[in-house]
Amino acid sequence: MRHRLAPDHYATGILAGDRLVLSQAITLIESKRPDDQVLAQQVLERILPNSGKSIRVGITGVPGVGKSTFIEAFGTYLTGLGHRLAVLTVDPTSQRSGGSLLGDKTRMETLSMNPNAYIRPSPAGDSLGGVGHRTRETMLLCEAAGFDLILVETVGVGQSETVVHGMVDFFLLLMLAGAGDELQGMKRGIMELADALAITKADGDNQQLANRARVEYENALHLFPPTGNGWFPPVLTCSALTGVGIDALWATIQGQQQLTSENGHRTHRRQEQQLTWFRSLLRQRLESSFYDQPDMRNRLAIIEDQVRVGTLLPVPAIETLLSQSPTGH
Ligand code: GDP
Repeated sequence: MRHRLAPDHYATGILAGDRLVLSQAITLIESKRPDDQVLAQQVLERILPNSGKSIRVGITGVPGVGKSTFIEAFGTYLTGLGHRLAVLTVDPTSQRSGGSLLGDKTRMETLSMNPNAYIRPSPAGDSLGGVGHRTRETMLLCEAAGFDLILVETVGVGQSETVVHGMVDFFLLLMLAGAGDELQGMKRGIMELADALAITKADGDNQQLANRARVEYENALHLFPPTGNGWFPPVLTCSALTGVGIDALWATIQGQQQLTSENGHRTHRRQEQQLTWFRSLLRQRLESSFYDQPDMRNRLAIIEDQVRVGTLLPVPAIETLLSQSPTGH
């Protein structure tokens, strides 16, 4: 049995920047136990006034594009400027047992030893929606612990980019030169979400190829409709190996943050994200409170049999189910 501590213990520790307490509080957030969940919410409530003050940056790209190498270089550069950086991951593959594309412990070795960086891999064994929800709450804790930059990394699998885009101020898409869009598993929709594209590995023989890819993607982006916030997503090249382009990328993020702060779109984006988060949680909760009712499985099976053979139409079927249920009206 774990020894239980008061919510104030966690809140005080987090606000003091105690990494051990921060990690313990994140474990509470990730826990499935109802009492842990209650405690986690009490901690979140206490730290909420001290959250929200970071720049939240999402980073995505296919496996092999250079995400972890880039985050090492970028993170080291940022801590060198005096920033404190938290790296979180949203990894849909960690939900299946046996493998994870992100978050294994050997990644980002240098950064993980850096006292001004904090790395937390994605929780396993949950739905993508659940992982996204927990990452959002974890982000709030990290902000309260004094991290002024949050990087949320995800791999281009499933809907994970959309989930991450929905929780950040700046969404960065890393791309390989010369790989072709299909090869990169790239959907047009993801490019439309990006606040900037960066062509990785722009060093050595690859430099020319990277420059060519930059022009191609710039042309492609011009065909997209305007984002509506006054920001035009640029295409950059960078190398985690030589460090070239890393500072320009940071300047780009700062430029976008300044512009959207001034024109009100930064606040608007966060407010919309909070509302979307709330609505998706509400939907999940309503759904589970409906399906988790006693005997629902049997009742549903009987009704579905009737719907299948056509003796009952969907609307009256739903009316019947809802009128029998305590959540119905
Ligand atoms: P991830 O799967 O997206 O996290 O990609 P990794 O960061 O693991 O990088 C994939 C491979 O690309 C590794 O072999 C890296 O050494 C290599 N790589 C990453 N960044 C660079 C870079 O800036 N230049 C060069 N030449 N290679 C790189």
